[in-house]
Amino acid sequence: YRAKATGKNRWVEFRPELLEEEIARLQVIEDLQQAPAEAFVVHYQPIVDLQHAGAGAGVTGAPVVGLEALVRWRRDRGGAVEPLVGPEEFIGLAERSGTVVGIGDSVLRQVTRDAERIQGSAGRRLDLMVNVSPVQLRHPDFTVRVAAAVRQAGASGCRLHLEMTESVMIDDDVVDRLRDLADTGAQLTIDDFGTGFSSLGYLRHRPFSSFKIDRSFVRDIATEPTARALVEGMVKMGQALGLTIVAEGVEHVEQAEILREMGCHLAQGHLYCRPVSVEEIEDVLSAPLAPRLTA
Ligand code: C2E
Ligand code: MG
Ligand code: MG
Ligand code: MG
Repeated sequence: YRAKATGKNRWVEFRPELLEEEIARLQVIEDLQQAPAEAFVVHYQPIVDLQHAGAGAGVTGAPVVGLEALVRWRRDRGGAVEPLVGPEEFIGLAERSGTVVGIGDSVLRQVTRDAERIQGSAGRRLDLMVNVSPVQLRHPDFTVRVAAAVRQAGASGCRLHLEMTESVMIDDDVVDRLRDLADTGAQLTIDDFGTGFSSLGYLRHRPFSSFKIDRSFVRDIATEPTARALVEGMVKMGQALGLTIVAEGVEHVEQAEILREMGCHLAQGHLYCRPVSVEEIEDVLSAPLAPRLTA
């Protein structure tokens, strides 16, 4: 069991590996604090239009309409070059220690800087989706930063989206600020939709333009009738509300086929493309993944 999951005034059995894990976590936090802005590298994963895909379930011929920015960390531990660290390993700790605000700034800056190059490769307007943490949303300067990023991306012919999970809806101050955020011209998207234990009431008045169906539902869509029914319900609801629906984690042709038949608009997943560095985007955007780009 986890020490933090136990209540107050309770004895926790001492286990040395728990201490080691805590020390490793503190080291991550410290390294994050020391890391320069350039240590955070943004990769991009294409998002394709399912409804304008060619025959064969859109494996080929699905036009790319956007890219999700996904941060990685080039962690310097003084030794040889190590593989990039994925966000699951550090975003939570960066939120806990507040460094996520600086990391998020660096991501926004990189994305707006990359926008011109991306737009140049695509030859037309693309949506750039950036994940934001509730900690960033609570920061007083955030709206101003987003406004600048929206302008800059727009000047390069790209549209900025901010992805946030349903968990942000529990903070009333954040919810009050969403309208200001939308007024900057940023599109707001609900990430990991369906996993947040949150009331659906927020969809009535909040300025969201899309949501992304969590990949845990998409994973089982072809094999489990319950998952399929839930996704179908989400798609119908999204359509009725006039929201754009994105399916996350599409890995198999059957999943893409089912989603397309349901009327889900967009899809993202390893079936189409893994996240790639900005240097690789040009290739990706000109590959068979998107033969209609110039049409
Ligand atoms: P997310 O926003 O839900 O991003 C989708 C995650 O699913 C990414 O993992 C992506 O690589 C992965 N993925 C995409 N297609 C597939 C697929 O077909 N199968 C499977 N199994 N996975 C797929 P990644 O890059 O490790 O990011 C994990 C999470 O970290 C993100 O989940 C997001 O919540 C967070 N994150 C990433 N970048 C940022 C950032 O710049 N700021 C903040 N605050 N959070 C970020
Ligand atoms: Mg996301
Ligand atoms: Mg997600
Ligand atoms: Mg996720």
